[in-house]
Formats: sequence, C-alpha cells, structure tokens
Amino acid sequence: MSATNTIFDVFVIGGGINGVGIANDAAGRGLNVALCEMNDLASATSSASSKLIHGGLRYLEYYEFGLVKKALAEREVLLKNAPHIISPLVFRLPHQAHLRPAWMIRAGLFLYDNLSKRLTLPKSKGIKFKSTDPLKVEITKGFEYADAWVDDSRLTVLNALSAKSNGAKLFTQTKVLEAKSVNGIWHLKVLDRVTGETSQMHSKTLVNAAGPWVENITDNINSAESHGIRLVKGSHIVVPKIHHDQHAYILQNEDQRIVFVLPFEDDFSLIGTTDVDYQDDPQQAEISQDEIDYLVSITNSYFKHQISQQDIVHTFAGVRPLLHDEAEDAKAVTRDYTIELSTNGHAPLLNIYGGKITTYRTLAESAVDKLSTLFPNLKPAWTKNTTLPGGDFNSRSMLSAKLAEEFPWLPIALRQRYVRSYGSLCYRFLDGCYTQEDLGEHYGSGLYQKELCYLVQHEWAKSLDDVIWRRTKLGLRLSKQEKEKINQYLASKLTEHSYAQKCCA
Ligand SMILES: Cc1cc2nc3c(=O)[nH]c(=O)nc-3n(C[C@H](O)[C@H](O)[C@H](O)COP(=O)(O)OP(=O)(O)OC[C@H]3O[C@@H](n4cnc5c(N)ncnc54)[C@H](O)[C@@H]3O)c2cc1C
Repeated sequence: MSATNTIFDVFVIGGGINGVGIANDAAGRGLNVALCEMNDLASATSSASSKLIHGGLRYLEYYEFGLVKKALAEREVLLKNAPHIISPLVFRLPHQAHLRPAWMIRAGLFLYDNLSKRLTLPKSKGIKFKSTDPLKVEITKGFEYADAWVDDSRLTVLNALSAKSNGAKLFTQTKVLEAKSVNGIWHLKVLDRVTGETSQMHSKTLVNAAGPWVENITDNINSAESHGIRLVKGSHIVVPKIHHDQHAYILQNEDQRIVFVLPFEDDFSLIGTTDVDYQDDPQQAEISQDEIDYLVSITNSYFKHQISQQDIVHTFAGVRPLLHDEAEDAKAVTRDYTIELSTNGHAPLLNIYGGKITTYRTLAESAVDKLSTLFPNLKPAWTKNTTLPGGDFNSRSMLSAKLAEEFPWLPIALRQRYVRSYGSLCYRFLDGCYTQEDLGEHYGSGLYQKELCYLVQHEWAKSLDDVIWRRTKLGLRLSKQEKEKINQYLASKLTEHSYAQKCCA
C-alpha cells in the first residue's frame, strides 16, 4: 500500500536526531510510522553540534542538576549501544584562578562524577601540566574528566536505518507544507522537492520535531500551543590539529563561556562553540567574522601553537532551538527539553521543544510514552538495551582485527574509518570484494564506488554534501576536482526516484 493510501499511526515532521529517534522508538513499539524531512537527514542542528555526549559540566552553574544527571546516565547507555560512532574522550580543563576558583571546579567535578553511575568512564582528577604539553608554559595546573564524542549526523542516520528496519517509512527532501486536522485525522500536504510534486498523507497523530522550525509548524496548524523558543546560533571552526595528544581541551573565557578544542578526524582540531541570539532563517546560519575572531583569540590565549583565520579549513554553524526561559544571556538558557501532547480542537499533536543530542533517546522514549493512552497496545520501551545498526561488536580493535583477517588488502586507514563510521555495517559493501579493485572507482581520500553506492542505496544520500559532510567527513580531505567528480557521479546516476536502481548499474 502506498504512503498516500495509508493512515499512519504517527507522522513525524523533521529528520533531525529527535525526529528519527522518535520514529525509531515508535516503529519498534509496533506503530505504523512515517517521517518527512525537507532536506537531508541531520541537515540542520543535528550535524552542527559540538558532537559531545556529555552531562554538560557548565550546566551545573545554572543548577540544572536534573538535566545533567539524565545526560550523564545516557553517556553509558549510548557508549554501549553505538560503540562504532561514540567513544570516550578525556577532557583537560586548564585552571585559571581568576575565572573560576579551584574549589568550585572540584565541587562541580565531584557532582559530575557522582550524579550518575559510571561504568566505563574514569573519575575526574587534578593534573599538573608539563613543559611538553601543548598549553602555554604559564598554565601549570588543571583538571581531567571524561565524557564521550559522537559522530552526530551518523547517529541520526543509524537511528533512521533502525526505524526503517522496524517498518517506518522515511522520506527525505520532502517538505510538509500544511497540516490540517479533519475529523480526528491529520491531513498532511507534502512536497517532494526532487520532483516538485505534492501529495497528501494521513495520520492519527502528528509529531512536530522540526527543531528550529518548531513554531513555524504550530503557526501553520493554527495551534494554540506556543511554548516560545529562543534561537541561539553556535559556530565551530576546523583547523589542522594544534596538538598531538588525544585529549580534548575545555577553555574558560573571560565572558564565563567555555570553548572546546576537540581532536577531529585524526588530523584536525574542532574548535567551538559560540552562543549568539539569532533571528534569521536557521538554514542560512553561518559563522560571522566576530565568532571567528572570538574562537581564534581564545585558542591562542591558551595554546603554544598559534592559529590565524588562514588556517581554517572548514566552518559550520547551527541554531539551537532553546526553550524560552527568563534567562537574559544566551549561554544561560536551559538545554533541557519539553514534550507537549495536545488535542486542543485537533487530532493529537506532540510538540518537541529544545533538547540535546545526548538526551535524544530518553526524549524519544518519553515522547512515545505520551502516546500510550492513544495506542493501548503499544509495546514496552526497548531502545535502552538495543544496539544501533552496525554496533553489534565487542570492541573497535576486535572488529578491526576481524576485517584485517577477512580483507587483508584493505589499507589500515580505510579499515579504521570503516570501523568508526559503519561498524559491522561495512560488510554491506565489503561482502563480495576480494581485492582493492573490487571496491570500484576511487573518488579520492579512500572513497570508493562501493561505499558511495551503499550510501545512496541504503542511507538516503542524494547530494555531495550528504556524502562528504554528513555520511562521512571526507569533505575535509577531498580536492575541488574530486568533489566535482563525486557530484557528477551522483548527478548522472541519481535521477528523481530511481536512485537505488541506477546507482550501481
Ligand atoms: C552549536 C551547537 C552545539 C551543540 N552541541 C551539542 C553537544 O555537544 N552535545 C549535545 O548533546 N547537544 C548539542 N547541541 C544540541 C543538539 O545539536 C540539538 O539539541 C539537536 O541536534 C536538535 O535536534 P532536532 O532533531 O530537534 O533538530 P534538527 O536537527 O534541527 O532537526 C529538525 C529537522 O526538521 C526539519 N524540518 C523543519 N521543518 C520541516 C518541514 N516543514 N517539513 C519537513 N522537515 C522539516 C529540518 O530540515 C531539520 O532537519 C548543540 C547544538 C548547537 C547548535
């Protein structure tokens, strides 16, 4: 039966981490689910985060104990469920006595260590920096604590894959133009942005997980609900790596904000973020000169290795859809989420406000729990103890060793990238390959035709950016000519709705 003839149980607007998380949870509990994303999966906020699975040490300063506790507990769950794309990361916090006293940091780290059970991550400790450390010599003392790192856009795609395997129908490049409630059923007018065609879909309930666009949807529906969100832009820069150890650094600034310097894709450092109130179209968010100056300046005030604007190889900016609380300052607005179910003169509508990558799974579980009164046969929550696609292996090193045995011709760097991007999903494109030539044409920096076909056929990749920034991060390495070659390949093979069939022909 086609999507237009079906009355879905749940229709989700938005293919960011929260939308796909909800689609996955709901489909796994036996509901008939559809999701529409107007661009690519994770094309908005969910690919522009700092990529941390963290409790948020600094939220303790705003007394957000509930949020921090919830997020800390999730670190261990997500590390277990997605060991390919999530890994522990040790942070070093240089001490600057005039910014925050040592007792305050110690108290914060004590809470951070103890608010939730740690199974794998080490406890925090005080440290002394050596002259061989990358920080300026006058910085001698600091603290160390652990959180985790995630490939945010791949987390979104893996949830989408899981949702699909649970029966959900996911449509990318498909914009919801209108949602009307007629006799207790949602009638949704959707635009296929590839063909330009519009069609109608129907659903018993509607989930508004449109992130920064959440209020555009409620305005469209003429829904009385409006929680009030505040858009806050955050930007990052990527530079060739400025230090050689595997730690992340957390830098305190005079304005009481903090900036992360994170090891990124082996050869780079990811530096961010900023907090700037934002009013324009979230899709158009980009880093400003002021933000570049801010990030360069704070980095240079801590590290021996000095950077300048010319070192920047990539930038990205995202817009946080934060709940409008009474905070004056953007950095102080709560990062927690609110889920509201309403049936205020229309079919059931679930609006999702705020949230973090770290808490997407609990958000999704709570969102679907809220639908239990409408769907009495709903199966119990299941995502806490279920690995995401490709995560069914013991350790990265064991999977890597297994791949080395089965595909001895695979270059080590490529094998490692496959392990940390796909986990065991890489068998989907490696099976049947016996030599490196079997991987097909090489598009540069280890991107072969087999992987490209897999991304198009199975992971909804349709454009160059989908491939080089959201499914992989190869955009950092590919030359202009190589990008053009990939673009031509995608354009020649991917026409309208016959992507999958034509891709590998
Ligand atoms: C700079 C920055 C740093 C961050 N760092 C972290 C971090 O380190 N750790 C952490 O846990 N969290 C972090 N966050 C927060 C986290 O990124 C967000 O909470 C999360 O990505 C929000 O996901 P979402 O699904 O709600 O929104 P989005 O990812 O924005 O998804 C909403 C989707 O809805 C789609 N959409 C909108 N309207 C329509 C329509 N009419 N039809 C179809 N589709 C539509 C959009 O295209 C979009 O893809 C950070 C956020 C920012 C901005």
